[in-house]
Amino acid sequence: MSTLATPAANAAQKASGTPRTEHFNVLIVGAGISGVGGAYHLARQCPDKSFVVLESQDGFGGTWRTHKYPGIRSDSDLYTFGYRFKPWMGKPIATAEEILSYMGEVIDENGLAQHIRYRHSIESVSWSSEDRMWTIEGARNDTGEAFRFTANFLWMCQGYYRHTEGYTPQWKGMDRYQGQLVHPQTWPEDLDLTGKRVVVIGSGATAATLVPAIAGKCAHVTMLQRSPTYFITGRNANELADQLRALDIPSEWTHEIVRRKILHDQAVFTRRCFEEPETVRKELLAGVRAFLGPDYDIEKHFTPKYLPWRQRVAFIPDGDLFKGIRDGLASVVTDEIETFTEKGIQLASGDVLEADVIVSATGFNLNVLGDIAFSIDGKPLDFAQSTTWRGTMFTGIPNMCWVFGYFRASWTLRADLIGDFVCRLLKHMDDKHASVVVPALRPQDEGMKMQAWMDEENFNPGYLMRGMHLLPKQGDRMPWRHTQDYWSEKDELPAADLDDGSLVYK
Ligand SMILES: Cc1cc2nc3c(=O)[nH]c(=O)nc-3n(C[C@H](O)[C@H](O)[C@H](O)COP(=O)(O)OP(=O)(O)OC[C@H]3O[C@@H](n4cnc5c(N)ncnc54)[C@H](O)[C@@H]3O)c2cc1C
Repeated sequence: MSTLATPAANAAQKASGTPRTEHFNVLIVGAGISGVGGAYHLARQCPDKSFVVLESQDGFGGTWRTHKYPGIRSDSDLYTFGYRFKPWMGKPIATAEEILSYMGEVIDENGLAQHIRYRHSIESVSWSSEDRMWTIEGARNDTGEAFRFTANFLWMCQGYYRHTEGYTPQWKGMDRYQGQLVHPQTWPEDLDLTGKRVVVIGSGATAATLVPAIAGKCAHVTMLQRSPTYFITGRNANELADQLRALDIPSEWTHEIVRRKILHDQAVFTRRCFEEPETVRKELLAGVRAFLGPDYDIEKHFTPKYLPWRQRVAFIPDGDLFKGIRDGLASVVTDEIETFTEKGIQLASGDVLEADVIVSATGFNLNVLGDIAFSIDGKPLDFAQSTTWRGTMFTGIPNMCWVFGYFRASWTLRADLIGDFVCRLLKHMDDKHASVVVPALRPQDEGMKMQAWMDEENFNPGYLMRGMHLLPKQGDRMPWRHTQDYWSEKDELPAADLDDGSLVYK
């Protein structure tokens, strides 16, 4: 339940043109998989805390609502991309629609709808040390009406990229192109590809999903890549889950057992990528070869220059991308774009790709803190100047956590871990009668070597490299590291000492 200012105060605010203010203990930004998970954990673990979730879109789902391109699906299995607390019953790789329906059940089963306000775009957030709380302001997307909330704690579940617009590089001659140029993030609902020649620029997970989804539905689709990506192929089924179901094992058990098996297998795979990268590389390429046959130029089109796992390895269920190529419905070109022409793309090799539609599957614009103007005691916040506390809190920023999930494991594994952490922290603050918590470097941390938010040697997709300078830094020791390692964090975060001096309470 929110606390409203007094009717007299609200009437005075209305007369002065400022919106009425509602107060909550916790305000969650975003109703994607992280925000809905956060709401679940708060409702369960801190039932005495009032909270609200503000979401700019007109429904929940975040990523899975924003993206509407053909074939949109997860590339993680839903046993681990699903929440720890809600068994996944479908095939491991799920469509956006299936994920939305799963999230809808979580909302319904736990009475979360009453806490979510849609069409609320947050524009500014400011912290007052005097009042010991945040003021959150913005405008409704539908009515344009301004809103204002205050909250003691801010739980940032806004994701990591701008939802309104994807990233399209500027290529020479783009303005000359007479066909249709689209980005998967803003896919036109009425786009009819029947009989069209389509070029998809890029070879990440989005391109690998889109190409098989439209192959056979358009005249031809070409995946144009500057350099190849690793893919892993397999059936869209989980044998262990199927066996457990056949034995009528309760779904909660099946969910937990299958999660553990998948996480174990992933840990083994990740370790092997570092210990025996050449062997793993050969295995991945053999998987592709099995679909494309001995004569296909795998060396040119499917052998990346980097070692496996430096970027996310996209899973291709049932090899559908390769089947399209094998059947001649899709093809791959590995080349550089020289210039766009009236009719398509001229490549550095001199070849020309004519296209009626060009899809720029070239990734995201990283956004920092939901593109919200943050200030602390009237001073604009420069997020890049702060140091992270375990990749979720930040020096100099009181009463705030951010859910930035895993890239090598499912995002939601971290959303659940941070859910537990936030609830533990809130209870700890209550126990200490503290209303403020802020990470601060201790004397022994002075002079610590600072590093980028993500280790660039370790993981380096384009959108992160383009935006790394805007993100906070990490230190060289705990609790100032952002490890992106589920397998250590699953034990370390729940056991983290909240009184080791790195968190200052007031
Ligand atoms: C196409 C695609 C496929 C992916 N597949 C996988 C996968 O298979 N496995 C995996 O682990 N990860 C995947 N990811 C990464 C994915 O983004 C995360 O896994 C996860 O969905 C992020 O959830 P989130 O709730 O943290 O953020 P988001 O899904 O980005 O949701 C954030 C929400 O916050 C809202 N918001 C942002 N700013 C504001 C504001 N100022 N005011 C109000 N509301 C705001 C947004 O509208 C949005 O609804 C994929 C990403 C994409 C783009």
